Amino acid sequence: MEVVKAVKRNVLLNPGPATTSDAVKFAQVVPDICPREQEFVDIMAGVRRDLVKVVHGDPAKYAAVIFTGSGTIIQDVLVNSLVPEGKKICVVNNGAYAARMVEIAGHYHIPCVDIQFPSTGLPDLDTIRETLAKEPDIAVVAAVHHETGTGVLNPIREIGKIAHDHGCIFVVDTISTYALRPIDIETENIDFLMSSAQKGLAGMTGASWTVGNIEEIKKSKDYPTRSYYCNLFMQYDFFDRVGEMHFTPPVQTIYALQKAIEEYWEEGETARWERLSLCWEAIHSGLEKFGLKSVIDKAIQGRLVVTVEAPADNRFDFFTLHDYCYERGFTIYPGKMFGLKTFRLCNLGMITAKDIENFFAVAAKAFEKMGISLPITN
Ligand SMILES: *Cc1c(COP(=O)(O)O)cnc(C)c1O
Repeated sequence: MEVVKAVKRNVLLNPGPATTSDAVKFAQVVPDICPREQEFVDIMAGVRRDLVKVVHGDPAKYAAVIFTGSGTIIQDVLVNSLVPEGKKICVVNNGAYAARMVEIAGHYHIPCVDIQFPSTGLPDLDTIRETLAKEPDIAVVAAVHHETGTGVLNPIREIGKIAHDHGCIFVVDTISTYALRPIDIETENIDFLMSSAQKGLAGMTGASWTVGNIEEIKKSKDYPTRSYYCNLFMQYDFFDRVGEMHFTPPVQTIYALQKAIEEYWEEGETARWERLSLCWEAIHSGLEKFGLKSVIDKAIQGRLVVTVEAPADNRFDFFTLHDYCYERGFTIYPGKMFGLKTFRLCNLGMITAKDIENFFAVAAKAFEKMGISLPITN
């Protein structure tokens, strides 16, 4: 396609949306189309097949169900749709995105067992096991694969095994790992995972989906319906019978998503993961040169987000750093940890280690502007 106008490239180091390619941006510019046309229905079918394939799901066993919205919509859908009458959901909670699922359960008045762990570490598996043994009414165990708020990577395979041993289904928020870290849905003991177009696939915001166990989706037909727009079975059933979303899909976002998937296959699962790992290494070596510390132990990081402890020097101002970098095409993000001054550097999108090096060169000037000499020694 003929590119009309070059688009300025920004390096987004925030936790999503991510930096996208021009091809993905321009994929949204298409002739107007009614999404009920067969042409669009076919695109949707292809996208749904691919979304299962990204996590190596057996298409006879797993299906992708897409909703129009940001990532939180799919948390909402799974939390409200998968808990049978009189049963409970249990959330393994060691961060902001798990806490959001607890909050969603609260909004729907769904009984929720909130197992809280410190946000700087991994959840304790024995505690999860003991809780499930004690609470036979728990039907759903939910966890977050990679806590984007901190950068901690949770042991989902082990948690999923415990959930299954206790007859529960396992729901995982993989929004900040899907199409970034390789995931095999069945090996990881996942029944339902989540993703959103603007994160790992580096598409546009507006479409989010689950890849979920078809048998379990069908069972959920008989569970209490707590939402109309955000009901999992209703959407699945419409896709299954008619091949389309129940209501108007985000048409242009789907075209961009189709392109982003194409780029994912072109780059390859392993190559993408290697590229992003190099970005993460570059973030750590940049921080080291600056004398800045990462809050989370490197060994438990998901290699996609680094939470940085803000320098104690009172000349340091996050917004000065942010604005200086932003004006030069680099976006950084505040931290999400209570009681500790932090900021985050995330490597989710179509970026390279070279971009990270360029960011640190710009950031060095911002520190100079604040009057802080590098490396920071205290
Ligand atoms: C981004 C993200 C979400 C969804 O956030 P939105 O702002 O609704 O897109 C949910 N969970 C995790 C782990 C995320 O990284």
